[in-house]
Amino acid sequence: MSALVLVVEDEEDLIAALEFNLKREGHTTRVATTGEVALRAATEEPIPDVILLDLMLPDVSGTEICRRLKAEPRTRHVPIIMLTAKGEEIDRVIGLEVGADDYVVKPFSVRELMLRVRAILRRAQSSETPNAVVGGERRFADLRVDPEAHRAWVGAFEITLTALEFKLLTTLLDRKGRVQSREQLLEEVWQMPSELTTRTVDTHVKRLRQKLGHAGDYIETVRGVGYRFLDRPREAP
Ligand code: CA
Repeated sequence: MSALVLVVEDEEDLIAALEFNLKREGHTTRVATTGEVALRAATEEPIPDVILLDLMLPDVSGTEICRRLKAEPRTRHVPIIMLTAKGEEIDRVIGLEVGADDYVVKPFSVRELMLRVRAILRRAQSSETPNAVVGGERRFADLRVDPEAHRAWVGAFEITLTALEFKLLTTLLDRKGRVQSREQLLEEVWQMPSELTTRTVDTHVKRLRQKLGHAGDYIETVRGVGYRFLDRPREAP
């Protein structure tokens, strides 16, 4: 699967390594070394298929760029993989908050990053294919999900979800009433079970629930196993 990858990074050695490996994987690249250039490069046609975004840039921070790209209609669905600073837990949390779809921690192995790119492209492709996420709007109580438009609402309020959160929600919703183990979810949603731990699932479910507000309660925790979307809406008290 060949894609256009926007590399936002200011370290020349890393840019060279990333470009070399991305091209070897059959991708084309566009490079931005500052935040200002990145914002332009992300919205230029053709829109990139995936963005690798360094957190520490000379002008605008990576988190700010991520936030802006996720608020911009032309780029909100483009998956973003953050390249975060070494071991800074806070960066990962912020990354998820501003809508990053994945992250790797520097120094990362380029091979691992290439696997993440491959996984994220596969995910994006399957959510674009109407039959993969099964076309047609889904409703559950006041939750409404439109897989084709990639949008979700709770009541009248639209919820902004990352590509990953959206896939997680639709996966749970499409199997409502059935328990999904963390391992199953890793395989279905992340499609890369060996690279991640089940803790990742918990982090994302927590984040998804927060975004859904009261509708987050539709997703139940099944202790020691995983998660389950309610079979049917609960009776109002
Ligand atoms: Ca940097």
